[in-house]
Amino acid sequence: MMIVTMRPGAAVSEIGAVIRTCQAQDLIAVPSHGAHRTVIGVVTADRSTDLSDVADLPGVEQVSPVSASFKLVGREFREEPTVVDAGGVRIGGEEFVVMAGPCSVETPDQIEACARQVAACGGRILRGGAYKPRTSPYSFQGLGEEGLELLARAGARHGLPTITEVMHPDLVATVAARADILQIGARNVQNYALLEAVGRARKPVMLKRGLMTTIEELLLAAEYILAGGNRQVILCERGIRTFETSTRNTLDVTAVPVIKAQSHLPVILDPSHAAGLREFVPALARAALAAGADGIMIETHPDPARALSDGRQSLDFDTFAAMMDELRPIGEAMRRPLAPAEPLEEETA
Ligand code: PEP
Ligand code: MN
Repeated sequence: MMIVTMRPGAAVSEIGAVIRTCQAQDLIAVPSHGAHRTVIGVVTADRSTDLSDVADLPGVEQVSPVSASFKLVGREFREEPTVVDAGGVRIGGEEFVVMAGPCSVETPDQIEACARQVAACGGRILRGGAYKPRTSPYSFQGLGEEGLELLARAGARHGLPTITEVMHPDLVATVAARADILQIGARNVQNYALLEAVGRARKPVMLKRGLMTTIEELLLAAEYILAGGNRQVILCERGIRTFETSTRNTLDVTAVPVIKAQSHLPVILDPSHAAGLREFVPALARAALAAGADGIMIETHPDPARALSDGRQSLDFDTFAAMMDELRPIGEAMRRPLAPAEPLEEETA
């Protein structure tokens, strides 16, 4: 199947010309008229069918092959962007949504300090890992249920919905009871039992792309969740493994327009895990906004040098605040505003 995407406002006669050109090649062309534009599904025997004459017609924006395997995640089945409502915060709408917080929930004071500062800077979602997928079995594995509780309480105190990772199907109900978004980590992107389990959950899911996952594989992983009945899915690009060794991973900014061309699901970029080094995080955050991502996820810590996980890529509070101030005018220019900062009350001595 190929999809012909018409430009917004394409004339009826231009749409008709596309359909007639396809029919002249004995291809079946089915238009779908959305609120802003029309797309035309063209049934082709294989991907090699040449539609270059259609691509050149007036009013045509692009012609792209569609893997018939994408059904529910594909643009051809839903033209309008999906907006995910996470505890009252809309992801995939006009606002550029910043999720931030520590890699791991460590102590009550640590998560409280993060929540307070994230809210003050105009962050909208509080992140914090309670169950941690660590490369080494000897590294800190997270506080588990206690971490979930601390995260939920800190989020509630500061009006921030929460996101945290779930690593095992048996824990989906426990995590869904305490958090607003279930995160599937990069390492679990193709853990099909877990994808099916969150597909049955009635909570938004943020699915992270794996280190070696193609965009097609990511979309097919998301398809499992939607096929399971959960349409509230956010995709997250967090850096892929390449030959480059000067950063932890390579942020695939290209994934944003590529996913947006193929899918209606919102896309978040995670500059922290992509760079692995805090000094590069703000630049990648700016790139995410300019590239059309629906938001970012940023790791912050009151004292990154002492963080129990991912300290090297975590922003201290001043750097996070400065990054947010840099993003705000870009958001205005892109018509993707950030929530306003609400400066903290001066502590009185
Ligand atoms: C995380 O968000 O802390 C995390 C472990 O991310 P990823 O799964 O992308 O490595
Ligand atoms: Mn982390």
